[in-house]
Amino acid sequence: MDPQALAFLRFPVGRSRGRRYPEFPHRYRNDFQRDRDRVVHARAFRRLENKTQVFPPAVSDHFRNRLTHTMEVAQIARTVAAALGLDEDLTEALALAHDLGHPPFGHSGEQELDRIMRLHGDVFNHNLHALRIVESFEQRYARFPGLNLTFEVREGIVKHSREVEPGDGVELEEYLPGQRPPIEAQLIDLCDEIAYNTADLDDAHSAGLLNVAELAAHVAIFREVHETIESQYPGAPERIQFLECVRALIDMLVSSLIEGTGRAALEAGVETVEDVRRFSQRLARFTAAGQEWNSALKGFLHRQVYSTEALRAERGRSNAAISELFQFFLDHPGRLPASHRERVTELPLHRIVCEYIAGMTDGFFWRTYDSRQVSG
Ligand code: MG
Repeated sequence: MDPQALAFLRFPVGRSRGRRYPEFPHRYRNDFQRDRDRVVHARAFRRLENKTQVFPPAVSDHFRNRLTHTMEVAQIARTVAAALGLDEDLTEALALAHDLGHPPFGHSGEQELDRIMRLHGDVFNHNLHALRIVESFEQRYARFPGLNLTFEVREGIVKHSREVEPGDGVELEEYLPGQRPPIEAQLIDLCDEIAYNTADLDDAHSAGLLNVAELAAHVAIFREVHETIESQYPGAPERIQFLECVRALIDMLVSSLIEGTGRAALEAGVETVEDVRRFSQRLARFTAAGQEWNSALKGFLHRQVYSTEALRAERGRSNAAISELFQFFLDHPGRLPASHRERVTELPLHRIVCEYIAGMTDGFFWRTYDSRQVSG
């Protein structure tokens, strides 16, 4: 792929639809750079440090948490954007924001909150929750609620991993339902996959949850890479050889995403960002080979790692506690903090409880859980 091959599809910051509350331009940072900085300064961003990605921190200090995972996604996304000539600042702001709405306890925490919300005829969606965080929960500026991010960053937050269709809800109506987001936003979900599929191999290996022989037996691309690394570094310790394999896989997947996206956009014949928006499908994609490698890794992780007894037991424990704490606040709304309690006139109680729990770090969740029986 030619360097900067998609520069003509870059979303120029000067074409942004702007902020909800107009602001004067900054002397030397453009609007997307300011948005990136606002995300980094947000409280919800710092909370990512104490949210589980996949592996519980009790076992080791070296596992990814949601903050270090986010940084890995951001560097991958910037590399891809730069190689294709897309806007690096918009891409980075979106990558840094992509998990802001994640509840405690990783993916299973999200599923459990959604399960409980469905019993109330509602749903929990982490993208929508992230939008609420940047639109209103973050309170740090005198002149506006939330972070007052540009339209394109808010749009990317709600669309980075799913389409928004007409009728998806009143909060989403302004985000061009039925249209694809700019390619910068489309990249995020795939950069997220590259980051976690490879990082989870690394974390699983260091936790002793991964059998390298089994991985080589089940995943052809790992077997090929492993054979090359073994012949290249025959004397290197097994762990170093393994890390060299992970490193090679990241490089192959990133290259495949650059190649696949570049090719798809050129073949689609899109000429402007507007064409990208109106195109029937997303244009960010792996090459066919990269798609296969990515699915093979993902399948292996699901079958052999995420389902191991240690992780299953941990998920069972945190899900039961989420369910219990949720019910506790439904039964004792007076125990919610005042800022949440006050919202009962505008929102159903289950939504307030859900948003309160979703904002918690793992650590704050357990402290709240442990103190629930103390009368107050
Ligand atoms: Mg993520």
